[in-house]
Amino acid sequence: MARYTGPVCRLCRRERMKLFLKGSKCDTMKCPIESRPYPPGQHGRGRIRESEYMLQLREKQKARRIYGVLEKQFRNTYAKASAQPGIAGENLLRLLELRLDNAVFRAGFASSRNQARQFVRHGHIDINGKRVTIPSYGLRKGDTITLRTKAQSMIVVRHNIDTIDRSVPQWLEVTASELKAIVRDLPIREQIDIPVREQLIVELYSK
Ligand code: SF4
Repeated sequence: MARYTGPVCRLCRRERMKLFLKGSKCDTMKCPIESRPYPPGQHGRGRIRESEYMLQLREKQKARRIYGVLEKQFRNTYAKASAQPGIAGENLLRLLELRLDNAVFRAGFASSRNQARQFVRHGHIDINGKRVTIPSYGLRKGDTITLRTKAQSMIVVRHNIDTIDRSVPQWLEVTASELKAIVRDLPIREQIDIPVREQLIVELYSK
């Protein structure tokens, strides 16, 4: 399954903000955004002309990078979102938020979405008692996510459970003692705390 394998911090610098893609490093002074808060490359510190298209493109890229989705899959998700009733931008964020890798991250089982994706790919996650190895798996209301027995004793998982201090969104109910999370409801926009103006993404794709 295709995924981005290039330098990760570069993506944050491109968006001029922390996208929290690297787990614990993001909260330390080692984060390159602290020392170099400008886009990478030779002309990173040059003047950037802000066009309408550029603003729309940056919002789309930001959302894509936060959720770790490549262009084709992101566009397919948008197509699905726009075919649903309601506001296309909100539908898009809801679909992204309900990805299995995102839910594992939101539940605090993984330090980053990349790590959550790896847990899923390596078969450490069950949905309603059945192993699922597809990071983009779309969760539904009532689904139960559990870490399999082997994963529960993994040092990295125990470390995450003990150290991650991340607030769990209201749509997800986590029982840390059982390493279990239940999708209580479908997320609404107010419960999705990502700094993206989804309307600009809709405008970009509607051209
Ligand atoms: Fe982004 Fe984290 Fe790298 Fe900082 S450390 S630039 S927040 S991925």
